[in-house]
Amino acid sequence: MIKDNLEKILSELPPEVKMVAVSKYHPLEAILEAYRAGQRRFGENRPQEFARKVEQLEQAGVPRSGTEWHFIGHLQTNKLKLVLPYADLVQSVDSLHLLDAVNGWGRDNGRIVNVLLELHIAAEQTKQGFVEEEILDVLFRSASYGNVRFCGLMGMATHTDDVRDIRADFGRIASFFNYLRNLFPELHDFRELSIGMSEDWRIALEYGATMVRIGTAIFGPREL
Ligand SMILES: *Cc1c(COP(=O)(O)O)cnc(C)c1O
Repeated sequence: MIKDNLEKILSELPPEVKMVAVSKYHPLEAILEAYRAGQRRFGENRPQEFARKVEQLEQAGVPRSGTEWHFIGHLQTNKLKLVLPYADLVQSVDSLHLLDAVNGWGRDNGRIVNVLLELHIAAEQTKQGFVEEEILDVLFRSASYGNVRFCGLMGMATHTDDVRDIRADFGRIASFFNYLRNLFPELHDFRELSIGMSEDWRIALEYGATMVRIGTAIFGPREL
């Protein structure tokens, strides 16, 4: 089942687009099934669950070096040590306070942390993220973040059936992403646009997604 879902998605996905299998709330067995089907890039959104799964998977015989782990949820600064030792990419850096703390953790631990800056694009106030001006401000000062590598932008579209709203959200983040790439050509690593989930990843591809984050369409509904 998971294998079939993965195959179907991968058959439609351009090979250069990276697919993050969002395994949050699903058991380790589901991750193992995806792993056995060839999936190597996983995403989780809760710090404890993230740390636990990475370790359990390693105990189950899957070497850490063979998998890539993305953190995609809201991260509080008192939880950094659960996430940053394991995360190949933190997609959800959504405030200056968090960014400063991540940089500080990197400095203290001799690491450079790969991050995406989360842009608030959805209509819902509940969703997290920076506004455009804040991201501009951060990138103008990017040299002062010596322990962060700025790898691009992440965004979540409005949760709606109205495709016009989703297109408006993706259009906005895509044009801001292109604007930033032109404005900061020296930021060579700033090249990922992480947009698109189970319901809207095909639309996201039209807007230049380089990375999609897919949960339900692979693993089925989550038990909350
Ligand atoms: C849960 C989640 C996803 C995956 O959502 P699905 O609709 O199940 O594909 C993607 N991105 C983020 C940030 C998430 O929290």
